Amino acid sequence: MRIAMIGTGYVGLVSGVCFSDFGHDVICVDKNPEKITSLNNGEVPIYEPGLDELMAKNAAAGRLSFTEDLTTAVKEADAVFIAVGTPSRRGDGHADLSYVYAAAEEIAGNLSGYTVVVTKSTVPLGTNRKVRQIIRKANPDAEFDVASNPEFLREGAAIDDFMRPDRVVVGAESDDAIEVMNEIYRPLAQRDFPVLVTGLESAEMVKYAANAFLATKITFINEIAALCERTGADVAEVSKGMGMDARIGPKFLQAGPGYGGSCFPKDTSALARIGQDHARPMQIVETVIQVNEAVKRSMVDKLLDLCDENFNGKKVAIFGATFKPDTDDMRDAPSLTIVPALVGAGAKVRICDPQGQKEGEELLPGATWHENPYQAVQGCDLLVVLTEWNEFRGLDLKKVVKKMNTPHLADLRNIYDEKDVKRAGFTALQPVGRQGF
Ligand code: NAD
Repeated sequence: MRIAMIGTGYVGLVSGVCFSDFGHDVICVDKNPEKITSLNNGEVPIYEPGLDELMAKNAAAGRLSFTEDLTTAVKEADAVFIAVGTPSRRGDGHADLSYVYAAAEEIAGNLSGYTVVVTKSTVPLGTNRKVRQIIRKANPDAEFDVASNPEFLREGAAIDDFMRPDRVVVGAESDDAIEVMNEIYRPLAQRDFPVLVTGLESAEMVKYAANAFLATKITFINEIAALCERTGADVAEVSKGMGMDARIGPKFLQAGPGYGGSCFPKDTSALARIGQDHARPMQIVETVIQVNEAVKRSMVDKLLDLCDENFNGKKVAIFGATFKPDTDDMRDAPSLTIVPALVGAGAKVRICDPQGQKEGEELLPGATWHENPYQAVQGCDLLVVLTEWNEFRGLDLKKVVKKMNTPHLADLRNIYDEKDVKRAGFTALQPVGRQGF
């Protein structure tokens, strides 16, 4: 199969590279010339473990290339994937579909021979039909079908998720389109990874419903955590006990500072808007959004408590700024709520994050960045663990304490054991959902 991938972000680049690894011929297109230049130089513009080697292998095999020129890529393709961004529209929380529709317009004029135009971006119900209309209007003679193929990969584990998915969802209405999609995903189907074929709207809905459900699960345990703090229960034990129930499962039950990232906040908000538009309010999802905001704000109160109710002049070290470990993605990270609150109240914030500085520097003005965690805590009155990077789990806590001015710890990911924290000499600990000291 010859595939054109429009958009080389976290989803487009990983999908394009993995499709080429399946043996397909893939051309990845992006309108950002810097991205294309760096990709053509063999450099991966994002941080995603394992992506550079897989990209180099398939580029060397001649199956993977990068271009700004959408025209040729689309002309030669059997399937064109749209993997552009669908951020929240400023002001109203709807998904901003302008990039998807602009890509559809561009694709329309360049289709040649039967082609399936596949939306991989997360898009509201009805978008694939609109993409079909746009293409039909711009190029009435084009031979094409549309298909919806939402992506479920997680940043930080994206290659494994793509290569070993729980399922692939394909929304399509014609046998020809289903045949092309089956051909594309045959390497997965042959290894018994399920490919679920649905209608267009169902495929679009699966993605929003799945993300909203996961955001709900996280928010549920965060609310339970707050109650654990007041009642003497330990949320880690509670999560374990709940997760052992096969009907519930252990994943997405780790309490923390609230969900963030490039998907959950915008997708829950888009689903809430879709519900309102159809006079079927998504009341659970709307509540989840509100509770998550409250969870993030309550973390600031926790920190204030550890700083004698006054951040002014306090030195605060932050471990981890990205929304989760193993990515450089800062979109909607809890750090974007917490760090500005600290800086605004007069704290001197020192951040250490293995991959976040490039994106984060501009987003978090007033903070300083430090490569070494021991350097970051130098002279600090408080250490906050915001993202559970592995690098932070094995630190010499005694050494950390020696470098701090006041050894207070807010472990917002519960990565340290209370006994170890005490033994190291910390004089105060605030975890999430369990008792501190
Ligand atoms: P991103 O912002 O990282 O990348 C989008 C890319 O598309 C950018 O490089 C941009 O320059 C390019 N682009 C935009 N318009 C273009 C055009 N007309 N022609 C060529 N290139 C164009 O976005 P992302 O995180 O990869 O997300 C893409 C979609 O996938 C979104 O709908 C998102 O919700 C969904 N998704 C994301 C994830 C994730 O973890 N990031 C997971 C599943 C689904």
